[in-house]
Order: sequence, then C-alpha cells, then structure tokens
Amino acid sequence: MSSQAVLRQFDVSSLVREPVRAKSSYVPSPRDERHAEHVVRLDMNESPYGPSPKAQAAIAAFVTTHRYPDFDQWALRDAIAAYTGTTAEQVFCGAGCDDVLNLVAQAMLDPGDEIVISEPTFGVYRMQANLRGATTVNVPLTDGFELDADGVLAAVTDKTKYIIICTPNNPTGNELAPDLVERVVAEAPCLVLIDEAYSEFAGTSYVWMVDQYPNVAVFRTMSKFAGLAGMRVGYGIVPKAMAPHFENIVQPCHNVSFVSAEAAIASLDDLDYLNGIVDRIVTSRDELAANLREIPGVEPYPSATNFLLVELPVDDAGPVVEELANRGILVRHFANPALGLGACLRVTIGAPDENERFLRELADILGDR
Ligand code: PMP
Repeated sequence: MSSQAVLRQFDVSSLVREPVRAKSSYVPSPRDERHAEHVVRLDMNESPYGPSPKAQAAIAAFVTTHRYPDFDQWALRDAIAAYTGTTAEQVFCGAGCDDVLNLVAQAMLDPGDEIVISEPTFGVYRMQANLRGATTVNVPLTDGFELDADGVLAAVTDKTKYIIICTPNNPTGNELAPDLVERVVAEAPCLVLIDEAYSEFAGTSYVWMVDQYPNVAVFRTMSKFAGLAGMRVGYGIVPKAMAPHFENIVQPCHNVSFVSAEAAIASLDDLDYLNGIVDRIVTSRDELAANLREIPGVEPYPSATNFLLVELPVDDAGPVVEELANRGILVRHFANPALGLGACLRVTIGAPDENERFLRELADILGDR
C-alpha cells in the first residue's frame, strides 16, 4: 500500500479525546434566524439597550486594530478591581464569563475528578466538566429552587475539586438564600465557584467572600448589565493563593480583544448610566411579571435578574415557544425532562415594546388552546 493510501484510510477523528467526541450536553438557543431584523430576541438574556454612551464612543474611536492589547490587561483588571473592591492581581478576564469558567476547569480538572452543581442551572458547567473527563454530580435545587446545602456538602468526596453555585440562578431567576451559600462555603473542603453573572440586577454580590474565606472564587460578566454580550468580556476574582497558578495558564491578553477591553473600561467609567439601565430593566421585569399573572394559569417565578422563568398552564411549553418563534419572538424552553422545567419558558426582559409584543402574542396563543 502506498503511503498515500495509508493516509486516506486513516481516521484522524479517532485522535480526538473521548469526552470531546461525546455529544455536548449544552443545548444553546436553537434558532439560526436570531439576527433577522424583525425578530424579537428574548432568548439570550442580553440587554435590549446596547452599550453605554462612553463605551459606544470608545468603540467608535478605536483604530489600533493592528496592535495587540496589553498582554496582562492591567488597565482592564485595575478597572474591574476598582469596581468590585478587590485587587487587580486577583482578577482574571476572558472572552466572556464562559471563558473564565473554562480557565478554572483547565486549571483544576483531571479526568475522574468531580464537580458539584445544582440543577436546574446554567448548562455550561456540566459541558465544561464533561469535556475534561470529569464527573458532574448534581444535587438538585429544592422546592422553590433553593440550594440544598446539606445535600451539596454530603455530595463532596475526595475527588471533588469545586462546587458551583449560581446566584441569582439561571434559568430559575431567583437568588439563593445567602445563609445557605455561606454554609456551603464555610464547610466545603474544596473550592466554591460563585457565578453571579446577574449580580447587578440583584444588587447583591459575594465578592466580599473572596477575602473572607480561602476557598471562594466569584465570576461575573460585562455581557448582561453593561450590554457588551457581543464584545465577550467576563472575569473571575480568585483567592490570592490561586492567582499565581492562573497567571500560568491564562491566555495571552486574557483572551480579551483590544477594543473589547476599551469598551469594558469605558463602561465601568459610566456606571451612573448603566445603573439607570439596570433600574429600567428591573422596572420592566416587575411590570411584565404583573401583566403575565393576568393571563389565566400563567405564573412567573420571582426573579432577581433580567429574565423571568414563567410557568404556563400546559404540560409542555415547547409548542408554545415554537409558535412564539413562528411569530418572530424568541424565548427559551428547557425540554430536558431531568430539569423539570418542561411547562416553563424563560423570557429575557426586552425594551417595553418588545415585552408588550411578547405578552400579547403569548396571551393570544394560550387563548387559542
Ligand atoms: N453564567 C451565567 C449564569 C449565564 O447565564 C451566562 C450567560 N448566559 C454566563 C455565565 C456567560 O456569560 P458570558 O460568557 O456572556 O460572559
């Protein structure tokens, strides 16, 4: 056989690591027409209002595309440290919070290690652990989507590297009870990652815990409150003892583009504006929740975020979500029966006219059933 023939028979995909060949457990929003003009996108928990004026100006003025950003991103890390009340050395940035969570998985997870999560929660945690060949142990949220602190602590074994607590939690929207979060942190013999991507909408934060406890890291994002989802800027605040190790594996320039870093820095210099945006979204959320309750059988769950989890008077919300999409309104449905959210949809708070359109179409669809 010629060497060319050997090459032709060679299945290069067999070299791909086993966990990567398995089907991804993460199911993103399925629509490919998301960018169409007429579509109302209430499926990704984005801000309807775009970036702050200072961020817009920074993006418009940016010309140095031919230069690499600062390798260590000190200006961005300084701005985040000032915003969160921590030190820049403890701040690690990435192309979104997802990227920073992935950095932690890379730093900590060997095949066979374990992490503990509480579903229903953000699907990326399970996906990232799976890809490392680690095992995800799920200790479900209890009734009212509360943290099962006893269960989480009991699930920790000598293989557990970290517990992930998402608060406010996506997709349920509620804040977990602070005393239960602190109990887990105080008693867990492992790292605890607190994902507070929606912190600004809740007006609460666990960043203070990073200095108070040796085993806490907090993760946040510029995607939601700052309207920079497309720019991809997220960050983690890690224990001082871990910072040198993260320096070793963080990507050059922290995986944050020059213009994205400039936009994030400008946003953090425009907090009065962004706080006003958060207030508007929170007001719209509470209005939308009240209006949804007027539709017979519809029950939004309490939310401390920029979205609502809404229970519908149907066994399966899938067809309703599909019909909303047919009418140009995208919301999320979590079909996986293990999550127990089949009768619910998750709707991001949009601009007032978008919320009204969603409300009208939902009422119409449910009225026809
Ligand atoms: N954590 C949670 C809980 C989220 O909902 C999201 C985005 N949907 C992220 C992290 C990731 O945010 P990003 O990568 O855009 O910073």
